[in-house]
Amino acid sequence: MRNRKGFFYSWSGKSIKIKVLYSRAGIAQHIWMENEKGWILVDAGDGIIRDLLSNKVNFEELKGVIFTHGHFDHMGGLHSLLGYLRMVGRIKSLLIFAPKGCTEVFSIAENFRKCYPGTIPFKIMCNDVHPHRVFQIAGMKIKPYPMIHCGGIEGYGILDRIPALGYRISYKGETVAISGDTGFCHSLRELVKGADLAVLEATYENSKGIEKDSLERVHLSEDLAKRIGKLAKDFILVHKGKSKN
Ligand SMILES: [Zn+2]
Repeated sequence: MRNRKGFFYSWSGKSIKIKVLYSRAGIAQHIWMENEKGWILVDAGDGIIRDLLSNKVNFEELKGVIFTHGHFDHMGGLHSLLGYLRMVGRIKSLLIFAPKGCTEVFSIAENFRKCYPGTIPFKIMCNDVHPHRVFQIAGMKIKPYPMIHCGGIEGYGILDRIPALGYRISYKGETVAISGDTGFCHSLRELVKGADLAVLEATYENSKGIEKDSLERVHLSEDLAKRIGKLAKDFILVHKGKSKN
């Protein structure tokens, strides 16, 4: 079952629930996923605390945060999240997973520890994620797939490729695939194939007028994302909102 309201979506399977708390290209994206054991976040952009509070989540049940890549719209809320958890006196360790080499995420966690020595009541446990190396949080089996994703700066064009992963998350026979940001690549098809739900980025409204290089190395368009989405049983398009790079 799924619902859509503006830029926000939710989907409930038999054992997994998922809510796109916010998603807009170049602003923020965070996805909440829950099973009977607790909940996790996939990415934590700006506004994460506001969006979690307005969804009345129980922060005690937060098991961990998985990052797809280090662009600001996907991880800009990490400092706020850590600060909030410190303020409310969280005790349980917090797991953080990010692609190996994702300096943006790991440096924020490290800096946070440096800023508040001795006054963070919970452990921040950072983990490098490697393509195809499966890990688990809250009993969910998470398989990372390498995505092809480069940033872009107005006037500078397409930058170098950064570490970026899509995640295939399974629990009790149900599977959700989350692309993060990606160009149109073979590994994306593998990530999505046969999933019960695919959450796909669709940054560009249309492939028309967008350079091939951008579609292969930066972002998907809605038409490409729909083509990929058909490989899954159901799909939703997120991260919309750009007409060019
Ligand atoms: Zn990105």
